[in-house]
Amino acid sequence: MPTHFDIIIHGGGLAGNSLALALAKTSLQIGVVEPYPPSNKQRHLLESRTIALSHGARRIYEGIGVWLELAPFCTPIQHIHVSDKGRFGMTRIHAAEQHMPALGYVLQIAEVNRVLCEKLQHYSNIHYLSPAKITNANLINEKWQLEIESNNGASYTCDLLVAADGGQSPLRQMAGLTAEEKDYQQTAIVTSVQLTRSHENIAYERFIDDGPIALLPIKEDICAVVVTVANKALAKWQAMTDVEFLRTLQHQFGYRLGRFIAMGSRTTYPLKLVQTSQQVSPQFVLVGNAAHVLHPIAAQSFNLSLRDIAVLAELIINSIKNEKSIINPALLEEYAKQRTADQHRTVKFTDGLIEFFANPVFAVPRNIAMTGLDMVPPLKTLLGKYGAGTLGKLSRLARGIGV
Ligand SMILES: Cc1cc2nc3c(=O)[nH]c(=O)nc-3n(C[C@H](O)[C@H](O)[C@H](O)COP(=O)(O)OP(=O)(O)OC[C@H]3O[C@@H](n4cnc5c(N)ncnc54)[C@H](O)[C@@H]3O)c2cc1C
Repeated sequence: MPTHFDIIIHGGGLAGNSLALALAKTSLQIGVVEPYPPSNKQRHLLESRTIALSHGARRIYEGIGVWLELAPFCTPIQHIHVSDKGRFGMTRIHAAEQHMPALGYVLQIAEVNRVLCEKLQHYSNIHYLSPAKITNANLINEKWQLEIESNNGASYTCDLLVAADGGQSPLRQMAGLTAEEKDYQQTAIVTSVQLTRSHENIAYERFIDDGPIALLPIKEDICAVVVTVANKALAKWQAMTDVEFLRTLQHQFGYRLGRFIAMGSRTTYPLKLVQTSQQVSPQFVLVGNAAHVLHPIAAQSFNLSLRDIAVLAELIINSIKNEKSIINPALLEEYAKQRTADQHRTVKFTDGLIEFFANPVFAVPRNIAMTGLDMVPPLKTLLGKYGAGTLGKLSRLARGIGV
């Protein structure tokens, strides 16, 4: 194990591991510092958190060269059905209409991370330091001096330091970069349900008085469930026994998916928008949740992060090809410049959806809009491309091409 690395990534979650893999075929020595050792333990489908990856995310993983390994764990979303309980508005989006193999893919987060970690092990230039975490970082003479809490007590240096250590990012705080939070006063209750019939690869979003309910297809008869409730209604939902919860969910969602017969455990996530006005500083960059956390209503957060990672990896690789140093400030300046528009657009889109879809004041215009959307194919195509993350100028990796 070297003691000096070209790049150290703090955090081996989806973002950190994806970036490490995107750079794995270079000659760079890369360290991934992660407090929790990777787990090989398989979790029951009813008990694991899932993520919806867009068509654009698939392309990036194809470019990175790991999609084939992820594919067996994916459930494709062929149709999206959006409706409002007790009102007329409804819209449907179909993959075939959008000329896509699928509108998105549902995966267990633990499976994605296991596949990424296994793939990283094939590269001798990737070093996993785990369990370990950075406790102090100082940039001295263009070199990061890192204090790392680990079993071997060794200290390390690196040229470029990447914070991929989640929404609370300890490294972001150590680097003195600030984050602004907007509390939505909402909480996501995440669970899964078993159905009496197949979900037929349809993802549902249904708006009820307490907020939106999303059901995402996992395996043949299981759906991941995200119930987003206003905090003032949370106590009511939390006080329910599993039987009461399942019954309430069934009543609010209806019988489009048949009967709900069992459910997994419930986990809650308070919902916030976290934004950082500065994501780069000399030889330092934030990625993933460390850079931005979005409301899950439009399943955009990690998909956006993956587009960031694709651009960052491409700029680093181009810099090496052009025999330029990766600590050249122009590299991270260019990264920030290229990513601003997409990040702003995605935050605005997600934030706007919450106002429009989660606020009862907009119930009537929302229903008119949903009906209108259902009848105007070009608008649906635009929305489909938006969700797929394939709008605007795309990096090579985002076009599924290796770099
Ligand atoms: C209910 C819900 C549903 C969602 N659904 C979707 C969806 O469908 N599609 C989508 O794109 N996004 C979705 N998201 C967002 C998505 O889950 C996140 O964007 C993604 O998991 C963030 O990955 P990350 O690697 O940046 O952060 P994390 O997953 O938080 O990983 C951070 C890593 O850093 C490590 N770490 C933490 N502290 C330290 C420390 N002190 N030192 C070192 N390492 C540390 C952690 O152990 C972890 O491995 C959803 C989010 C929620 C809450």
